[in-house]
Amino acid sequence: CGIVGYIGGSQAAPILLDGLAKLEYRGYDSAGVAVSSLDENGNNTIEVVKAKGRLQILREMTDNGSSVPGFCGIGHTRWATHGEPSAINSHPHFEKDKRVVLVHNGIIENYLELKDRLIKKGYEFVSQTDTEVLVHLLDNYYKGDPIEAITKVMVRVQGSYALGILFQDRPGEIYAVRKDSPLIVGTSKEGNLIASDVPAILKYTREVYYIQNMEIVQMSDKEIKFYNIDREEIQKELTKVEWDT
Ligand code: GLU
Repeated sequence: CGIVGYIGGSQAAPILLDGLAKLEYRGYDSAGVAVSSLDENGNNTIEVVKAKGRLQILREMTDNGSSVPGFCGIGHTRWATHGEPSAINSHPHFEKDKRVVLVHNGIIENYLELKDRLIKKGYEFVSQTDTEVLVHLLDNYYKGDPIEAITKVMVRVQGSYALGILFQDRPGEIYAVRKDSPLIVGTSKEGNLIASDVPAILKYTREVYYIQNMEIVQMSDKEIKFYNIDREEIQKELTKVEWDT
């Protein structure tokens, strides 16, 4: 239902929790965050914390975000469409080894058919959600080029989606894409953000890119790039939000 992502010079988790709180008005039944950080050996560890119920529970579980340090992360408030509200069904969803971690708004209409095929390929499903097929499908197509994997998933999947994605071997980068579910990118000197709606990021910036259907976003703390489904880089116009919530 609600998506927030942040990469920049500040701790991500408090910004994710704050952004998700701004989207609470949309309603939700569970919430979660994934925060990426490099350990002393330079390995990217992605920590996922999620729970059924109010954001307050997530705040308590993470000590207001301080127990999940890191400068890059994604967060989600879920309004269940497939699979009951529960910790396991809440987002972020991830591959067992966290090679791919993602949050999703929307509905994957052909998820049963995709699930069958992925199970035959050896993928194990832990949740009842439609969303989990996206994790395994991305993993299946990911050979080191995130944009290639994302476009292959876009071709296979029917339905609506806004996605925020972390790849374990691409630390410091957030990927995002949308079709028929809203998604924006915000940019500021202190960091770059994604969100499903403007109120989530207004505290940090008014400079936004409105992402159109089938557009893909690749962002680090310094750079934001946009691609079309043919994997060609496209230019987008920065817009200034003039209104307040
Ligand atoms: N269909 C997904 C689910 O049930 C996403 C729901 C949402 O947009 O919050 O988990």
